[in-house]
Amino acid sequence: MNSNEIDIHRELKKYFGFSQFKGLQERVIKSILNKENTFVIMPTGGGKSLCYQLPALVQEGTAIVVSPLIALMKNQVDAIRSLSSDNGVAHVLNSSLTKTEISQVKKDISAGITKLLYVAPESLTKEEYVTFLQSVPLSFVAIDEAHCISEWGHDFRPEYRNLKHIIKQLGDVPVIGLTATATPKVQEDILKNLDMVDATTYKASFNRPNLYYEVRTKTKNIESDIIRFIKLHKGKSGIIYCLSRKKVEAIAEVLQVNGISAVPYHAGLDAKTRAKHQDMFLMEDVDVVVATIAFGMGIDKPDVRFVIHHDIPKSLESYYQETGRAGRDGGEGHCLAYYSYKDVEKLEKFLSGKPVAEQEIGFALLQEVVAYAETSMSRRKFLLHYFGEEFDNETGEGGDMDDNVRNPKVKVEAKKEVVK
Ligand code: ADP
Ligand code: MG
Repeated sequence: MNSNEIDIHRELKKYFGFSQFKGLQERVIKSILNKENTFVIMPTGGGKSLCYQLPALVQEGTAIVVSPLIALMKNQVDAIRSLSSDNGVAHVLNSSLTKTEISQVKKDISAGITKLLYVAPESLTKEEYVTFLQSVPLSFVAIDEAHCISEWGHDFRPEYRNLKHIIKQLGDVPVIGLTATATPKVQEDILKNLDMVDATTYKASFNRPNLYYEVRTKTKNIESDIIRFIKLHKGKSGIIYCLSRKKVEAIAEVLQVNGISAVPYHAGLDAKTRAKHQDMFLMEDVDVVVATIAFGMGIDKPDVRFVIHHDIPKSLESYYQETGRAGRDGGEGHCLAYYSYKDVEKLEKFLSGKPVAEQEIGFALLQEVVAYAETSMSRRKFLLHYFGEEFDNETGEGGDMDDNVRNPKVKVEAKKEVVK
């Protein structure tokens, strides 16, 4: 079967209930159905899962989907099962399964029922599984969150490095890599480490035209500055990111004292409190959540109106991800970062305790954050350039949506060079 024989619009409607593809989905799906190695770079929320789920569902054989998080895999499997009359259509293969469950999975795959098999990279190293997978028809291997393969990404996982060898053992199957990390360095790493430099690359734009970017110099008055900002956005939902748990607690308290409904969120709180605070934010019982980076994975609140960084993030990827939680509905999203050289030093100190290779990467990433904070050019242009995308802020969508373009000013400057 090839892409010409399948009516993918009909399949889209049938399985997912959507009448249109989003962005590059259609081209990606055709590429996969043509058995090409395919590399997909789309921002979070861009609809990457469907890019491999649909071709898996309409083809012969089983697609292997490598994903780093067990919780994420379970969600996807449940979602796929709800689209089909047979629960065997999607399975997870991991160490938590009983012997009986494993033989059911194998049975369904052998019978051609299973279209999607989700595996963690470490499970794929099990020889027993590899031997089994060699004996059944496979449609393709998809590597989700492919940036995990790169030390330059924000979530390096050494297990991802073995994938290349395992895929080789599976025979001549197309490989699909997917990621939301758009830096050229990470992309290069992915293509090299997955042995797919011949892949056709589909990269969506990372421009978020409705987000307004602003950097303010961090001063002693930061707390009153934040309070003033929030009061100007009265009743709107927002997230404030802080580096430390202590700071999270302190800021949440200051806001509360000043009549702003806010809750803290960080990994030091027990699971119940964290869940409660997250729900309060989602249900709009509170306006503001003050959080460490522990908050946000999978948060899909469409009307977050501002994201404030009390402390600068450790990389521009993190910044893009965190600010990306604002304005998901296309409405206003104000991204405000406070910048001081002291914070840069603090992050450098963190890094100096790490292994040398990690330190070097960490410093280089931080350097880019500093450059972003200090630039006097269009912030959107700067961010998109970092992601390998040329943007003309005279003509591009959202070109005037940042402080530098709106009010050109003397640039914010750090007090000394970043130590390398
Ligand atoms: P990503 O993995 O790129 O972050 P997801 O695959 O999780 O994104 O998809 C994000 C959201 O977009 C999901 O809620 C999904 O149902 C939705 N979506 C995907 N494709 C379409 C489409 N063609 N039309 C409408 N919604 C879509
Ligand atoms: Mg995804």
